[in-house]
Amino acid sequence: MTQDTQPTASHYIDGAYLEDTSGDAMAVIYPATGARIARVHAATPDVIDRALAAAEAAQADWARLPGRERGRVLIRAAEIMRARNRDLSILETYDTGKPLQETLVADAASGADALEYFGGLAGSLTGEHIPLGDDWAYTVREPLGVCVGIGAWNYPTQIACWKAAPALACGNAMVFKPSETTPLSALKVAEILTEAGAPPGLFNVVQGAGDVGQRLVTDPRVAKVSLTGSVPTGRKVYAAAAAEMKHVTMELGGKSPLLVFDDADLDNAVGGAILGNFYSSGQVCSNGTRVFVQTGIKKAFLTRLAERLNGAVIGDPLDEATNFGPLVSEGQLNIVMRYIETGLAEGARLVTGGQRLDRAGYFLRPAVFADVTDDMTIAREEIFGPVLSVLDFTDEAEAVDRANATDYGLSAGLFTRDISRAHRVIGALRAGTCFVNSYNDAPVEMPFGGVKMSGVGRENAKAAIEHYSQVKSVYVRMGDVEAPF
Ligand code: NDP
Repeated sequence: MTQDTQPTASHYIDGAYLEDTSGDAMAVIYPATGARIARVHAATPDVIDRALAAAEAAQADWARLPGRERGRVLIRAAEIMRARNRDLSILETYDTGKPLQETLVADAASGADALEYFGGLAGSLTGEHIPLGDDWAYTVREPLGVCVGIGAWNYPTQIACWKAAPALACGNAMVFKPSETTPLSALKVAEILTEAGAPPGLFNVVQGAGDVGQRLVTDPRVAKVSLTGSVPTGRKVYAAAAAEMKHVTMELGGKSPLLVFDDADLDNAVGGAILGNFYSSGQVCSNGTRVFVQTGIKKAFLTRLAERLNGAVIGDPLDEATNFGPLVSEGQLNIVMRYIETGLAEGARLVTGGQRLDRAGYFLRPAVFADVTDDMTIAREEIFGPVLSVLDFTDEAEAVDRANATDYGLSAGLFTRDISRAHRVIGALRAGTCFVNSYNDAPVEMPFGGVKMSGVGRENAKAAIEHYSQVKSVYVRMGDVEAPF
């Protein structure tokens, strides 16, 4: 990393970088080599307090600006992000290990899309007029106040922007805590927002682990918490927020189904399964990790999938020819390898991959299991790594029942040429974000989120506005008040 691309301190508070070395030191590891590339310090209670105080001070004036002016700042930030896409992508690659080939198109680019989209919406966040005979009422869409964003480690730039953009568009301020595994990228988002004209304190970044997150969530100054993380963390954060009736958005884990029917276009279905299992080395919450394949197409599907996996270029993520990078950390690699061992022990057939590469860094060959049954651990638990499970099915209704037999409900997809079946099956699948003849598209115009244990609330699209604002109703009497006494 060059001096320019690296953030210069651990935290970003009140419009500037802030260092406080009295917090616990956290090493930042480059997943492709295992080498330490930076060190940040966890936020102390004093740093957390400064971030929340700065956000609170900035919020009221920001909310008073015309929405169009707030929007202009966000759109300017989007332009800066696009202009610096390469530097930001390199930083994201150092943070996560994801190949530059991916980060160049998926991370700062998607963050910029969110800033641009919500910047455009900011001027149109209006209430309504409600005629009531001679009287009338109106509603005002008001911000919530200080929002806390807490991120997972797989998309540090995107998660920061997906939370900040709608929050700021609606007139809120934010304190964001990245995952301790990937602390760098969100700092650059904060720096860019300041450069684009965001007032000091509007978007702050503090580092730390779960205890810092918990302190933020429970602070009485905080009106809303948006978490991207696992279900166990979601439960804790939701419960803590509920104690003080705070608003929440919960973007949690999944074990999503992808249904491939006999009549599917084979290469598109295989492509969808690859995108839905191996992008970002499989570390994507919405992945379609349970691939239900109808028996008539199973052999051809497995053969083509194994062939196309030979096209995976595994190696140095900074080489733009690489399309499959390491896992984010040694801990995550060990978790995934344990699941592969469990899959084998429970009788699943490993078709390809699953071995650690004999080199530095946390590299694992993308794994495909066949003959997986619904009761196997690898078919029930979220692995969050490059492990695809193929489960056989014969009948549509049976496939739908089995696809729905999970506590999760983040995403679902299918491949078929039968348009009626496509919509019938999507209608029956219990998931928040679905795909027909595709997988894992996440344009900012489309709401994203889960049902059941996969979460509450929606990110992106106009739906996100509901989760970063509240409606005030005002009744206006035009005549006299008639009281009983
Ligand atoms: P975790 O749930 O472990 O952590 C998520 C964030 O919450 C981290 O910043 C973490 O801090 C923080 N945290 C942990 N405990 C608490 C607490 N008690 N109070 C407040 N904050 C806390 O998830 P991972 O980072 O391991 O990410 C992987 C998970 O995220 C997977 O389950 C995946 O499915 C899900 N995910 C969901 C997405 C979605 O949009 N639905 C997208 C991406 C991932 P720290 O880790 O620094 O200790």
